Amino acid sequence: QRKLSRRQKGGKNRNRQRVKVSRWHKRVRNCRKDFIHRLSISLINRYDQIYIEDLNVKGMIKNRRLAKSVADAGFSEFFRQLEYKGKWNYKLVRKVDRFYASSQICSECGHQSGQTKDLSVRLYQCEECGLEIDRDFNAAINILKEGLKNVS
Ligand SMILES: [Zn+2]
Repeated sequence: QRKLSRRQKGGKNRNRQRVKVSRWHKRVRNCRKDFIHRLSISLINRYDQIYIEDLNVKGMIKNRRLAKSVADAGFSEFFRQLEYKGKWNYKLVRKVDRFYASSQICSECGHQSGQTKDLSVRLYQCEECGLEIDRDFNAAINILKEGLKNVS
């Protein structure tokens, strides 16, 4: 893309570079689509119940730092695929409320801390019970617990 902007407008090289860039974008798009398909299929095959955090995607896109990674991950498409593939395979796929503070609550003792707002901190440490755990794994356990609570 940087090369493209250096090429002269209307020039033969510019056109050639433009085709290259758009081909590359298409490849990235297809790769991502393929990845999302394979990941959702493997999750549906492996688990009978899946609980996913209903991330506030729009809110995250307003947050500049998060915007790119969220958009790149294609979260909403991933949710959509999990949901319909779950239906086809008689698996339970549910969203857990987005206001649930999954990353701030200790999955062991339930203590809520304000310390993990900073996304660069990968380790969750509970001031109450001393648990040390990967912050995403801690959040995942909380989401599972919350989901199981609401299933009748
Ligand atoms: Zn704790």
